[in-house]
Amino acid sequence: MNTILVVGAAGYIGSHTLRDLKERKYNTVALDNLSEGHLEALCGGVLENIDLADTEGLNNIFKKYNIDAVMHFAAYAYVGESVINPRKYYQNNVLCTFNLLNAMLENNVHNIVFSSTCAIYGNPVYTPIDEKHPQSPVNPYGNTKYIIEKMLADYKKAYGLKYIALRYFNAAGARESAEIGESHNTETHLIPLVLQTLTGKKQCIDIFGDDYDTPDGTCIRDYIHVNDLADAHRLAVEHLMNNKGSEVINLGTGKGHSVKEIISVCESVAGKRAPYKVTARREGDPASLVASNCVARDLLGWEPKYTDIKDIIRTAWNWERNRKY
Ligand code: UDP
Repeated sequence: MNTILVVGAAGYIGSHTLRDLKERKYNTVALDNLSEGHLEALCGGVLENIDLADTEGLNNIFKKYNIDAVMHFAAYAYVGESVINPRKYYQNNVLCTFNLLNAMLENNVHNIVFSSTCAIYGNPVYTPIDEKHPQSPVNPYGNTKYIIEKMLADYKKAYGLKYIALRYFNAAGARESAEIGESHNTETHLIPLVLQTLTGKKQCIDIFGDDYDTPDGTCIRDYIHVNDLADAHRLAVEHLMNNKGSEVINLGTGKGHSVKEIISVCESVAGKRAPYKVTARREGDPASLVASNCVARDLLGWEPKYTDIKDIIRTAWNWERNRKY
C-alpha cells in the first residue's frame, strides 16, 4: 500500500482528506506546523510537527518514511490579509512550497497533489469557468498559487515531477459526524459567519455589496462540500500513482448561489432568522465565480455527492452548533 504525506493535515481541507484516506486504509503521514491548523483535527492521530521552512526537518521526514506521494494543503489563504501583508504570503506559500518540491526531488518522490484555487482566474471573462479560462489573479494570495502552478509545470518539464493542481472554488461543510469541521483563527468566510450569527456568537452578518450585476445584486459563488474535495484528492493521487499525466483541474459543483440565497438557506436549516445589513463591496470580489467541472468528471471520474446547497449547509450547521475547536 502506498504512503501519502499529507502536508497541512491539521487544516480544514487537509484534515477531512486525511480522515478519508485513513478510513480507506491508506498509509498516511500527517505533517503540520499548527500555525493555522488544530491538533484536535487529527482526532488523536500522530503528527509530525514540522515547518516547511525547516529544510533539514523536512528532509528527515522523507528519510524516515517511504513516501510515494505528497498532498500539499499548507498555505495562508486570507485574501484581505494577503493584500496588506504580501510578504507573509510569498514567504509561506511560495518559498515553503519551493522547499517541499526540492525535498521531494532530493528524495526521489515525484507525485504531488497541490491545493490551488479559482482565485487564479481573477475577474471572470466568461462563466462557467473552465480550466482554459485566462489566468489573471487580482490579489497576492492568487498570485502565490499562480506562481506555484508555474513552478510545478517547470519542475515537471525539467525533473519529471508529476502533479495535479486542484483549483478549488468555495469549500464548505463538514463531516456528517461533525467531529471535525471548519475552524479559522480569524473567520472571514460567509457560511461560518452566517451560522455564527444564528448561534448568537455574532450579532449581524454584513453583505458585502448588493449592487452587483447578478439577479439579486449579491455575489454568486460555487460552494463545494469538503468531503467532495477529499474524494477528488484521493482520485487525483490514484491518477498519479497509475502513471497517468499531470493535470490542472477545477473543483466546484457547477452551481452558483448568491450571498442572499446562502443567508436564506442557513436560516431555513437553523429554523431562525439571521440579522443582516448591506455594507460596501469588498475589494477584489468578482460578481460571480462558478466552475465548469467537466475535466474532474472526465479525467478523475469524480462527481460531487453534495449537489444541494441545503445539505452542505446542514453539515456546516451540525459542526457549528457542536464545535470542538
Ligand atoms: N461575503 C459577505 N459577507 C461576509 C463574508 C463574505 O457578503 O461577511 C461574501 C463575499 O463578498 C463573497 C461571498 O460572500 O461574495 C463568499 O465569500 P467568502 O469569503 O466566504 O469566500 P471567497 O469567495 O472570498 O473565497
